[in-house]
Amino acid sequence: MKIDTLAVHAGDRKKLGNYVPSTTPVYGTSSFFYERTEDLDRVFNEEIEGHGYSRYGNPTTAALEELLARLEGGDLAVATTSGMSAIHLALISAMTDRRRSVLCAKVMYGQSITLLTNILGPTGVDISFAEPCDLDEFEQVLAKEKPSCVLLEPVSNPLLRVAPIDRITTLAHEHGASVIVDNTFATPVLLRPLELGVDLVVHSMTKYLAGHGDLMGGALVACEEWRQLITVLTRTLGPNIGPFEAYLAMRGIKTLPLRIERQCQNACHIAAWLKAHPRVKRVYFPGDPEHPDIETSRRLFRRDLFGGMVSFEIKDAGRQEVFAFMDALRMIVPATTLGDVHSLMLYPAISSHRDLAPKHRERLGIRDNLVRLSAGIEAVEDIEADLDQALKR
Ligand SMILES: *Cc1c(COP(=O)(O)O)cnc(C)c1O
Repeated sequence: MKIDTLAVHAGDRKKLGNYVPSTTPVYGTSSFFYERTEDLDRVFNEEIEGHGYSRYGNPTTAALEELLARLEGGDLAVATTSGMSAIHLALISAMTDRRRSVLCAKVMYGQSITLLTNILGPTGVDISFAEPCDLDEFEQVLAKEKPSCVLLEPVSNPLLRVAPIDRITTLAHEHGASVIVDNTFATPVLLRPLELGVDLVVHSMTKYLAGHGDLMGGALVACEEWRQLITVLTRTLGPNIGPFEAYLAMRGIKTLPLRIERQCQNACHIAAWLKAHPRVKRVYFPGDPEHPDIETSRRLFRRDLFGGMVSFEIKDAGRQEVFAFMDALRMIVPATTLGDVHSLMLYPAISSHRDLAPKHRERLGIRDNLVRLSAGIEAVEDIEADLDQALKR
């Protein structure tokens, strides 16, 4: 089945007694009991299907997890309280029973780096970094550090570089490392990393998957061989999302392919429009024929879609001018997230990359005149009109 069909059907319509609810209800309960205690015993023994305690499984979250696994082409999924808890669970899973070492892409979501360097590092995990768009450098570091796992994002933030995750995965496996991909920006509509041999896929479900800016959530998706380990870790660490959020996420995901298609089309149109705008110095968009990774984007992404994100530099702007631009936006929401149905604008220098020294930001190419747009599903003319009036201030 195509992802458009899976998004509206997978996980739902489980029979209850002699009827079937059309969508999965919210099971707001911590525990479950049976008329015969013997049945609870058999549920815990995994002899029969059922639930005992919601940290072990809940029908609403189980439905969402079935949906997430199908979307990413995996065998199992864990829906978690946030993207960060999914990344933590993935890292712990990939390092159990092995030398604890991670090779991480140089540019990653800020808290992923913090998790590695400030939390896992001091517990004895070796952390190294390499640039995934430079395959030679990446292989050198792999050979030198021999990490147990590699962590990377296919689309970097905010400069939107596209990593050749197919080639990185081949290299990592040759060096005995498993691969974790944070697929938040690409979503399974554009990219299904498990089909390229990646071992674990994680998401901030808060962003595109849920898509409406109304919940926090995360996901970890894997193939069968990981089931036992991930199940034990999940039951022990307890990162599980609650049933109310799970219900909302499932409702949001039904329109994921439709939303993504529209958001990518809008982003593509806006990127070309910005390139011609007299107040714009430079535009970053993975579908731009002049983008340094255009070949990788064309090879990896499906349906001629290149993502819903566009970053751009405003001509002759410093902090004050960017603040004025952000404040002048009338419809685009200047909030620090992405992937919602409404368009969002973010200023990396004061938010996602705030903790870096200005020199470090400069070295990464994140200048003080750079802003990042997450295209929503609005009419593209209205998004461009809002950008235009704010740029002219
Ligand atoms: C937001 C985000 C995260 C963290 O997810 P939360 O749901 O905020 O915990 C991780 N990775 C990427 C790429 C993100 O954009």
